[in-house]
Amino acid sequence: MPALLELLHDQPALFVTTVTLFGLMVGSFLNVVIHRMPKMMEAEWARHHAESRGEASPPSARYNLVVPRSACPTCGHQISAIENIPVLSYLALGGKCSACKAPISARYPLVEALTGTLSGLVAWQFGFGGMAIAALLFTFALIALTFIDFDTFLLPDDITLPLLWAGLLFNLGGGFTDLHSAVIGAVAGYLSLWSIYWMFKLVTGKEGMGYGDFKLLAAIGAWFGWQLLPAVILLSSLAGSVIGIALIILARHGRNVPIPFGPYLALGGIARCSGAATGTLLPAGLLMIIVGLTGGIGSGKSEAARMFADLGVPVVDTDQIAHELTYSGQPALQEIATALGDDTLNPDGSLNRALLRQRVFADPARRRRLEAILHPSSGTCTAVAGPAPGCAVPDTGGSTAVRNPRLCRPDHPQSRHRLR
Ligand SMILES: [Zn+2]
Repeated sequence: MPALLELLHDQPALFVTTVTLFGLMVGSFLNVVIHRMPKMMEAEWARHHAESRGEASPPSARYNLVVPRSACPTCGHQISAIENIPVLSYLALGGKCSACKAPISARYPLVEALTGTLSGLVAWQFGFGGMAIAALLFTFALIALTFIDFDTFLLPDDITLPLLWAGLLFNLGGGFTDLHSAVIGAVAGYLSLWSIYWMFKLVTGKEGMGYGDFKLLAAIGAWFGWQLLPAVILLSSLAGSVIGIALIILARHGRNVPIPFGPYLALGGIARCSGAATGTLLPAGLLMIIVGLTGGIGSGKSEAARMFADLGVPVVDTDQIAHELTYSGQPALQEIATALGDDTLNPDGSLNRALLRQRVFADPARRRRLEAILHPSSGTCTAVAGPAPGCAVPDTGGSTAVRNPRLCRPDHPQSRHRLR
């Protein structure tokens, strides 16, 4: 056994492959958890309810995560081991029950593939060791919670509370954060949503989220510390509102139909978990979240951008880019003068910003012309590691420079176009 562990330690590719396969199998088990845990909770409530009214509890067959064995819900055909191989069995069976040909939901292989992929990413990010094991447990719990919340609007205490304790225990020795930050994170996570809940309820008379959400955010705080909470809440609300609005438009989801918040909390948590090792948001683009922050002057864009940057998320600040493009001596100034009039340049060659603003805000066509110069499309302005061609940008290694053909004076005293 130690020889096997040594092999996994020495061979990163083997480790990632093994963990991915393991993740596929765990995904198969998570399908059972997602399906059965809410039913087990309902049975438990029914029992409590009956007992509190002094009635005999309704008789029920044993039903837990292990018993009975999985069977086709249509015909009762028991799923054999060979029909239970993650993803492959589904493909081999053509998505149908082998006995009655009733269709099987594509969700099952999807959950398996998702769990396998995320497990592989965790293994790749953290490498062999305790951090990877902890991050895997965290990931599995959040996948189960995500789907249970989508299906039932429940976040079972049986998952959220152990997750919270596990996070505190793991950080006893400074796993993802120090114990101090973890304890405050757990308390602040719970209280922040609790207060939002009560404010929302007092103002609108409605319940905006459930107590499970508080416990989940407390668990995320316990795992990664209080410092992360604002970003998780922000990411979750952004993702939640984008997806929620899409649901309302696409599915004619009523505006008052509740939308589960847990999955978005989980998404924020998973994204952060994978970013903990390298300081980047999920690398493979699987859960790649691109957040665009817009708003008027003083709306807090730069504050929010700084918050993301402090968490190690790559930030491209277009305001900053536009500013640096218009420092004296930058080639963009000549383009502006050609497009919008020579008098937009002062005699000393600097930009007459007041005149430019006046001219541009009076005419949408001119404004678009200016935007085309200062805010090039992603085709011409892409984040690259290292110096842009033609620009003598000193490479400090690992940092991200913005490649922009119009930004070619890196030696300019004011120029700071190096992003974290
Ligand atoms: Zn069947």
